[in-house]
Amino acid sequence: MEDKKEKNKKRDSDINNPESEDNLIKEGYVTIIAGPCAIESYEQLDACARIIKELGLTYMRGGAYKPRTSPYSFQGLKEEGLKYLREIGEKYGLKTVTEVTDTENVEIIADNVDVLQIGTRNMSNFALLEKIGRVAGKKNKKVILKRGWASSIKEWLLAVEYITSNTDVEVVLCERGIRTFETSTRFTLDLSAVPVIKKLSKLPIIVDPSHAVGQSDLVIPMSRAAIAAGADGLLIESHINPPRALCDGQQQLSSDELKELIRQLKNITGVIGKKIR
Ligand code: PEP
Ligand code: MN
Repeated sequence: MEDKKEKNKKRDSDINNPESEDNLIKEGYVTIIAGPCAIESYEQLDACARIIKELGLTYMRGGAYKPRTSPYSFQGLKEEGLKYLREIGEKYGLKTVTEVTDTENVEIIADNVDVLQIGTRNMSNFALLEKIGRVAGKKNKKVILKRGWASSIKEWLLAVEYITSNTDVEVVLCERGIRTFETSTRFTLDLSAVPVIKKLSKLPIIVDPSHAVGQSDLVIPMSRAAIAAGADGLLIESHINPPRALCDGQQQLSSDELKELIRQLKNITGVIGKKIR
């Protein structure tokens, strides 16, 4: 345990090396990953990508395999979605992020995107974490580990060890809200996780306000708060036509709202001496 901690400390300081152009998180920058909850069609993703590129961002997200709470909800375009993500990422020069839901699809996802996301429902799926660590290490991919909605920070940090136990790979934590008794937001965004993680580890941490609050009008204020609290980046759901989205329409930012978010964040990052990428 101690040895692994020591190993992680070393690895984490390498992660923050500003020379590493390739990293998801770069010192002095706030990394904004924007894009739709789910990839719905080539045209939908292409239009989202155009806006993201125009805003000067580097990363685009899009779900191909969707882990839905209801088996009757849209489950994603799967391999077809991955193909669109790869093609459109290449077309616009954007790096790509998508969620891995199963040990069965780790390899194919790693062959098509830059960053493998582990969702809240899988934070404690240790076989999946280990496989993602192995494959990401081998193929030089990055990993985002979302916090389980009923997991403590300690459990979350231990889950990282499953990913990194046999490999060196950049792991970025993502706070996405936890379950509490409060019902006015979808989950409760635990922003204190940001400074707590900074205190306990050297791992980078980003915040996903979209899934936490579940309503688009609350995403901008909580994004501002996350950056002010010291988050290294944000994961934001954005869609060209949120009312027509096949999933999570109520929380996705429209293109105009995404532009407004970036405008407001530039003011904050200016004050704290960071840039947006
Ligand atoms: C997502 O980011 O698409 C997602 C499903 O998020 P979470 O795992 O946080 O619910
Ligand atoms: Mn979603």
